[in-house]
Amino acid sequence: SRQNIGVIGLAVMGKNLALNIADHGYTVSVFNRSGKRTQELLAECTTNNIEGYFSLEEFVQSLERPRKIILMVKAGSPVNDIIKQLKPCLTPGDIIIDGGNSYFADTINRSRKLEAEGFHYFGVGISGGEEGARRGPAIMPGGDVGAYESIGQILTDISAKAEGEPCCRYIGGDGAGHFVKMVHNGIEYADMQLICEAYSILKGVMHMSPSDLHEVFKEWNQGELNSYLIGITSDIFAKKDTDSDHYLVDMILDAAGQKGTGKWTGQVALELGIPIPTITGAVFERYLSSDKATRMEAGKLYGDCAKTKQRGADFVEPVRKALYASKICAYAQGFSLMLEASRQYGWKLNLSGIAKIFRGGCIIRAQFLNKIADAYSDDSELKNLLMDNYFKTVIENYTQAWRDVVATAVTSGISVPGFSSALAYFDSYRTETLPMNLLQAQRDYFGAHTYQRIDKEGTYHTQW
Ligand code: NDP
Repeated sequence: SRQNIGVIGLAVMGKNLALNIADHGYTVSVFNRSGKRTQELLAECTTNNIEGYFSLEEFVQSLERPRKIILMVKAGSPVNDIIKQLKPCLTPGDIIIDGGNSYFADTINRSRKLEAEGFHYFGVGISGGEEGARRGPAIMPGGDVGAYESIGQILTDISAKAEGEPCCRYIGGDGAGHFVKMVHNGIEYADMQLICEAYSILKGVMHMSPSDLHEVFKEWNQGELNSYLIGITSDIFAKKDTDSDHYLVDMILDAAGQKGTGKWTGQVALELGIPIPTITGAVFERYLSSDKATRMEAGKLYGDCAKTKQRGADFVEPVRKALYASKICAYAQGFSLMLEASRQYGWKLNLSGIAKIFRGGCIIRAQFLNKIADAYSDDSELKNLLMDNYFKTVIENYTQAWRDVVATAVTSGISVPGFSSALAYFDSYRTETLPMNLLQAQRDYFGAHTYQRIDKEGTYHTQW
């Protein structure tokens, strides 16, 4: 009999996904460009549910119809290469599922082309890294809603479960799944940056050691900050180096890497005109960090140009509050971006459902996503999370601590682009009268760009 589903691309993600699918009782055919990875998987796995192929044609022939083929190859041209090779082997109605981190606009283009040729194409965001792929990732499928019936059950079965609910649901047409995965990654950048700033402040003004920080983050993980990222942060602070008598975190070079999904989120936000300063700030901070040599040079040039304000043990709680309030703003930005994209691309995104998917399997999984899910299920037209009652109460209660923490960091010369941009976002958002009256006057002065008045209708221009 034919196999239920195929997986192409057997690096960490594809291999673990194939094993996960096989665990759930489905039969899987696997193929990889270089046969070595296929051989390795076959040698390693103990299940009878996986069959390896070394010719693409035989791989395709082994699958039941409509064929369901998951691509887990490097994003970009490899996806086009594989589609090109696959097409002559396929039959109309077959379903290609791109499970990699493809750019959503590429997915829209591929989807249009393949759907016009009679095939179905899904762009599926899969989050959770290697472990997620193996044990249950968060899954964000975008594509033809009719064809989803053929793949929905498998994807749901292999997904993570959060509070008993599968972390997989149909997201929307063509590029919607990859878009949501991209924004997830953008939010992840901001979330990680904010945690790093909390660390930087606690270390800078309270001289906390890694073992103190381990305790602080462990405690924070019991409360409203409870999340995967806070949990691993606590673990990281407890880890001793094996090559020295230091904690490992102190031995790691402070130059951040990235793979590009955060950059895409920023580019799209600029295109759609949605402010996400805490997310883009996190991307920029990674760029800034990566040139360690220049930072060291500049450090010598400027020396200690700010006087560190020392704070006592009672400063931990304000930092926690500042972190939570900033985190709310970062998520508010990411969700606003999805709201606008949903309008512009006609995806009808269910933001409450998306918040629920993020609760399991993926890197940003957190208790607090339940609050976001509630906010959007109470009001699916909610303009911004900051307009929701729960978040309003938190922000109101935490603002004073938040301002104190940002002020302390600023006077101490500790860089907090995340905390401060989140606070500025909130302050701009809640300010009835911004100084853009002056800006409009300037634009009219030098460029006759015209302005509107607060007291009467119409468009005005002045000979300044
Ligand atoms: P990589 O992104 O490192 O890609 C390697 C795989 O792509 C190999 O199977 C390789 O085949 C194949 N490949 C590369 N170029 C071609 C080509 N031109 N034609 C055919 N096959 C090609 O693998 P990962 O497992 O890390 O990731 C897979 C996808 O999942 C990526 O899009 C990634 O962004 C995404 N992803 C990764 C996560 C992670 O934590 N790693 C998390 C979530 C998503 P060969 O062995 O022959 O070189």
